[in-house]
Amino acid sequence: MDSAAAGRPGGVSDVRRFPAEVVAALRGAEKVAVLTGAGVSAESGIPTFRDALSGLWASYDPEELATPRAFRRNPSLVWRWYRERRHRVAECDPNPGHLALARLQDLVPRLTLITQNVDGLHQRAGSREVIELHGNIGRVKCADEDRVVTEFADTEEPPRCPECGGLLRPDIVWFGELLPPLAIERAQHAAQLADVFLSVGTSNLVEPAASLPWMAARSGVLVAVVNTSDEGQGFGPRIHHLLGKSGDVLPDLVRTAWPAVSIPAR
Ligand code: NAD
Repeated sequence: MDSAAAGRPGGVSDVRRFPAEVVAALRGAEKVAVLTGAGVSAESGIPTFRDALSGLWASYDPEELATPRAFRRNPSLVWRWYRERRHRVAECDPNPGHLALARLQDLVPRLTLITQNVDGLHQRAGSREVIELHGNIGRVKCADEDRVVTEFADTEEPPRCPECGGLLRPDIVWFGELLPPLAIERAQHAAQLADVFLSVGTSNLVEPAASLPWMAARSGVLVAVVNTSDEGQGFGPRIHHLLGKSGDVLPDLVRTAWPAVSIPAR
């Protein structure tokens, strides 16, 4: 990409040369909001929903497994699928993209990290106060009374709630369920009030999270989209596309804005 394009508002940049407007806005920002999706964890080896449905699970539709109806119909099947995913997540480590975001929280006065991921890798990278829009695969709750249960047996069959005896299920927002209202409210607030909004590794297909970058853009916030593809991403004068893997782009971006900062390399 040519340097003229790198400096102009909007447009597409490679991972080494960022638009001057993005770098300056990030360095001078009081408030930064970040939305992450499955792409940020791809380099940690965590498969997307579709990829996860291989082998034994290849014949299932994700919507047959990730719904309250599916759990009511066959709690054992749903529990076993999530158990397998939970084990895979536990074997994965945060990648340089997660680490760069954890580093960023100490470089800007206020950082709000909003994730659609359920893998807990941001927290394991050191990010504090993560807004989890879709829950966390490492937690479970009572399917009858919605109570989060902190200790549970890692059994093949769904364990029972110690309080009421109901079945325990993953504490994940399934298709057809509402997002935690406070989490989405905080996310929308942060998106509209930020100086810079980073949208990282999300396809913008799952609402209401998908609207957050455009909500930010409509409020005049500078939006930087970090993704390996610009498919499904919006365009506009203050929307910049930083094409590449988040594990490359995010550390580069932080180092460009704060050259003295070190972030563990891949
Ligand atoms: P998605 O799978 O729909 O989209 C992933 C996006 O990441 C795509 O736009 C893709 O181009 C991009 N991408 C892929 N590799 C990348 C990389 N290395 N760097 C930067 N971008 C990359 O994911 P989504 O938008 O998060 O929506 C899927 C839903 O499924 C979410 O609601 C999420 O809760 C759930 N989910 C979570 C996990 C997880 O916790 N890790 C994994 C799979 C699905």
